[in-house]
Amino acid sequence: MTFENTEAFARELDARDPLAPYRKEFLFPQHNGEDVIYFTGNSLGLQPKRAAARVEQIMKDWKELAVEGHFRAENPWWEYHEQLAPYLEKIVGARAGEVTVMNTLTVNLHLLMVSFYRPSGKRYKILCEEKAFPSDQYMLQSQLRFHGYDPEDALIEVPKRPDEHHWRTEDILGVIGEHADSIALVLMGGVNYYNGQVLDMAAITRAGHAAGALVGWDLAHAAGNVRLELHDWDVDFAAWCSYKYMNSGPGNLSGAFIHERHIADQTLQRFEGWWGTKKETRFQMRPQFDPLPTADAWQLSNPPVLALAPYLASLELFDQVGMDALIEKRERLTAYLEFILGEVDKQVESRFEIITPADRGCQLSVFLHGEGRPLFDYLMEHGVVPDWREPNVIRLAPAPFYCSYLDMYRFGRILREGIESGRA
Ligand SMILES: *Cc1c(COP(=O)(O)O)cnc(C)c1O
Repeated sequence: MTFENTEAFARELDARDPLAPYRKEFLFPQHNGEDVIYFTGNSLGLQPKRAAARVEQIMKDWKELAVEGHFRAENPWWEYHEQLAPYLEKIVGARAGEVTVMNTLTVNLHLLMVSFYRPSGKRYKILCEEKAFPSDQYMLQSQLRFHGYDPEDALIEVPKRPDEHHWRTEDILGVIGEHADSIALVLMGGVNYYNGQVLDMAAITRAGHAAGALVGWDLAHAAGNVRLELHDWDVDFAAWCSYKYMNSGPGNLSGAFIHERHIADQTLQRFEGWWGTKKETRFQMRPQFDPLPTADAWQLSNPPVLALAPYLASLELFDQVGMDALIEKRERLTAYLEFILGEVDKQVESRFEIITPADRGCQLSVFLHGEGRPLFDYLMEHGVVPDWREPNVIRLAPAPFYCSYLDMYRFGRILREGIESGRA
């Protein structure tokens, strides 16, 4: 499709967009009485209007039923989390029973490493991408130290080539091959938070297995954004947060995937708690742990239902729309944003460099040559909400659920005015 940088063209794309009606399912911050142009769905997704009713239902059940709410609430609390897994299994490409919702992301990755990082002898190293998300770096370093290793030696970080902004799959596979006799675990971000790159998760998982390692994925920026086939890719485990593309609310719960072949493995180590035991016998308060035959065996505590409620509301919307439609719109919307950036670039002389490679999801990371923080501030003052990363990168993630083509057009106009005003 040939794009045009006009308001009429953007409105025409919106008129033909089957997802356009979903915009009004979300609550936008206001700027001068209008919805902001929201580019940070990769950081905190907008609030679905229907989330509040789900939360209020629990407040009401708590008020009226108190402890009885565990079993007699409209959606009984003791099994509330089970409603979320089937929706998530579709989103991440899992089989029934391979997904659970619990804790938060960094906590889940630590817990999953209890099961899947089992260093021994010469095989003890962990491989990740260089400059991984800070929480992941701290997590991997502390896990290594906990097991008595020195991260300087035991953490292998795959570099990008000098002067390149993305990783090449062949380089990642090469480093895995080089360390084939010493890697215990490959654990990487499926979609990189900084440059927006989608890694070839299928190929890397295969290579990790060929090297004799287990392979896990941090899907914080991938879940609800790109196509995932975790079961078919033979991924060992994965976890994601829900408050980015999945619009579940600040700091909300994480989802976790465990491949069914591991769920069945009785020799696997795991930290356990009472919510991981079979429901029929849970309240008999027996001393022996009797695991559920699903990823729920990794559950520890009775779940925070007030947090699960908005996540459930959001997942109902995902189920109505489906990942196929979201991905289709995401591709066109992001391409339109890329086109608009290119047009503005021509009007103001070349200043932007998109550092996101062709393998991408929603996000475009734009390196601002000759511009900087003042331009970012100008955008914020004019109703645009992008995200700033040092040294000079703005990240723009137009979430297909609620962003419009008109948003992209209007953003381009504001961007050009910002640069031309000389303020920036
Ligand atoms: C957002 C993000 C996190 C956040 O972790 P929390 O435990 O939810 O605070 C972790 N890793 C990556 C790659 C992220 O993008």
